[in-house]
Amino acid sequence: MVRFVGVENMARWLAETGVEAAISGLTEYLEHDFRRWPSFELAPRVASHSPVGVIELMPTSDGTTYAFKYVNGHPGNPRAGLQTVTAFGLLADVHTGYPVLLSEMTILTAIRTAATSAMAAKVLARPESRVMAMIGTGAQAEFQAIAFRDALGIRELRVFDTDRQATAKFVENIDGLGFTVTVASSVAEAVSGADIVTTCTADKRNAIILTDDLVTPGMHINAIGGDCPGKTELDPAILDRAEVFVEYTEQSRIEGEIQHHAADFRVTELWEVLTGVQPGRVAPAQVTVFDSVGFAIEDFSALRFLSDQLAGTDYFTEIDLVAEPADPKNLFGEVSARRLQQA
Ligand code: NAD
Repeated sequence: MVRFVGVENMARWLAETGVEAAISGLTEYLEHDFRRWPSFELAPRVASHSPVGVIELMPTSDGTTYAFKYVNGHPGNPRAGLQTVTAFGLLADVHTGYPVLLSEMTILTAIRTAATSAMAAKVLARPESRVMAMIGTGAQAEFQAIAFRDALGIRELRVFDTDRQATAKFVENIDGLGFTVTVASSVAEAVSGADIVTTCTADKRNAIILTDDLVTPGMHINAIGGDCPGKTELDPAILDRAEVFVEYTEQSRIEGEIQHHAADFRVTELWEVLTGVQPGRVAPAQVTVFDSVGFAIEDFSALRFLSDQLAGTDYFTEIDLVAEPADPKNLFGEVSARRLQQA
């Protein structure tokens, strides 16, 4: 039998554990896995593009455990009442090839993206950062805010979204969580005086959400919405004067903000900073960019963390995803026995 975590059990686990505890617990798993980065199989995700979106498969393995996530990105979906991003994922035992855990990952992806963003900001943003601008207040936004509050001490949020309803939803959800929230009427107003800028918008084009003139010395930019060929958020000029950090260079050159730059444009992979091989922020006035697209190891960590959290709980059910004939060569017997029963 395979353990299965559906949306209801995921929501129940998070309600009872706390989103905060899940993000900080997952961050420990992420840090552990990023520090052993070279022990993973590394490959850009497999993307299937259409005019309106993308469907991606994100596999990796550490030689003992294999994981993959199925995820989509369809920025026009909310107009039809559907989410931009949905996902599910699977953990398997490398030694047998048998799946061991199947889980919803729409919610889990928001948790893992927030944890990854905050993990990066801890080594890239100025430690005294307290004000964050958030451009885009959609599905990911509250998770991002909570992660930055707990990891960096962000207390003041300045938010802007072209959709006022999304902003109103954010303000209502974030109430009582320890933030002062200012709703801005433009990106420029939101970004003015911010220590950190999170761009988390969805639009299938090379948008310029953040222009170079709005970026001030010492800013850290957490750019997570640009994650597909032809789908970016930053003025390319920002990257020319910033120090740019990515997850996995080969994938980021295809999907990230750096897709506008030459193949030899200098970037640093985040795992190198976490292992001390490369420096993170080196000066208070430096502009740093985390050009995030989401990488398979983050989902591996999320599923590994979830799997460990499930032990001794009832946050999962067991499903017969894999046929288990008593005689492994008698697969036909599974079918013929039932045919006889029905006769
Ligand atoms: P969403 O559709 O729920 O929210 C996006 C928000 O951006 C919407 O509220 C929309 O109104 C707003 N927006 C669009 N254009 C804007 C503009 N020009 N100015 C201000 N606001 C604007 O999507 P989501 O689930 O929150 O995801 C946001 C983005 O993050 C998507 O592009 C998604 O692909 C990406 N994403 C990246 C990662 C990662 O690991 N890097 C993980 C998850 C999602």
